[in-house]
Amino acid sequence: MNQEAHAQPFGSIDFIDLKAQQDRISAPLKAAIDGVLAHGRYIMGPEIGTLETNLSEFCGAKHTITCSSGTDALTMALMALGVKPGDAVFVPSFTFASTAESVAFLGATPVFVDVNENDYNLSIESLESAYASIKDHDLKLVGIIPVDLFGLSADYDAIKSFADAHNLWIIADAAQSWGATYKDKNIGQLGNITTTSFFPAKPLGCYGDGGAICTDDDLLAEKMRSIRVHGKGSDKYDNVRLGINGRLDTLQAAILIEKLKIFADEVQSRQRVAQYYNEHLENVIKTPIIEKDRGCAWAQYTLDLGEAGKREAVQATLKAGGIPTAVYYPLPLHLQTCYKDYPSAPDMSVSENLSQRVFSLPMHPYLETDIQDHIIETLKRALS
Ligand SMILES: *Cc1c(COP(=O)(O)O)cnc(C)c1O
Repeated sequence: MNQEAHAQPFGSIDFIDLKAQQDRISAPLKAAIDGVLAHGRYIMGPEIGTLETNLSEFCGAKHTITCSSGTDALTMALMALGVKPGDAVFVPSFTFASTAESVAFLGATPVFVDVNENDYNLSIESLESAYASIKDHDLKLVGIIPVDLFGLSADYDAIKSFADAHNLWIIADAAQSWGATYKDKNIGQLGNITTTSFFPAKPLGCYGDGGAICTDDDLLAEKMRSIRVHGKGSDKYDNVRLGINGRLDTLQAAILIEKLKIFADEVQSRQRVAQYYNEHLENVIKTPIIEKDRGCAWAQYTLDLGEAGKREAVQATLKAGGIPTAVYYPLPLHLQTCYKDYPSAPDMSVSENLSQRVFSLPMHPYLETDIQDHIIETLKRALS
């Protein structure tokens, strides 16, 4: 290594390195793509069924339905549950837009709930106070969409007892947490329906848009398979319900079949990378807190600076060292232009504060220790 180039010893560091993974499986990937080009069944080809079987085997859900994106997965799940105008669905505010967008898109009302300071996930106390503040409105409270933010599962036992007490369904938005575990269960087995995303930057990503839905419920599965193809019935030209064009491309399924083969190994590598960051940073900054009974998929490695106003300078120092960072999320949903008129829990201060304090470091399964050392040293310098 060139000792003089101490500021940026590694040239450009990737925030997420998709190339290293591609190099690792390039031969089987190319063979899989060639296979689709050879049979030419680009829509609902045989790879779709194979991938769905493999995903169900991976997570233990009875049914897996692949689809066009994580956003469409949410929309199709909500459609299958019959969500309509006048219905209200609890969603965390500190998340990506899709979680609330899918609810609002169907004319229903997202009700924003605050998150926990420690794990960034839906707060039960806030859920209770949102419920108390909304129950006299002219809205029918129908469900909850917890999000497993940054790859860590929400507290499903607590959310489920709340849901059962109030007769609500749960859609687990697992767009960031495929491969994570909660107690003795895999993501995909929690909630009435689980949705995930195969957007390239997610833990399991394809080379375009894609997503999947898991459920153990036969009737919901059948409805979602129908909704995926315009609400088809047994006769393709007699549509029995409103649907969408929600299919995953066969090409993306072929790619995902290959990526899924190395995915468990990649989750372990992410775990190792996160552990290394934790060990070397816990004395200088608040590192992620993972309860012992959860396995995190580490979609992001997010740090909390503890106070507003410091982030820009820290990011600038890292950038000068050639280290890319990102902020998820700079504005909670309940403050965004599109969503600010929807109801929220009386106190949303945790989401509001976190959005000014958090930032994420490079995280992927192929991050090498010497690069991590450079990131850690540069961050320590930025914080001192
Ligand atoms: C990425 C993401 C989605 C949407 O997934 P797409 O495949 O991009 O549509 C939904 N929810 C959360 C929490 C996400 O991070």
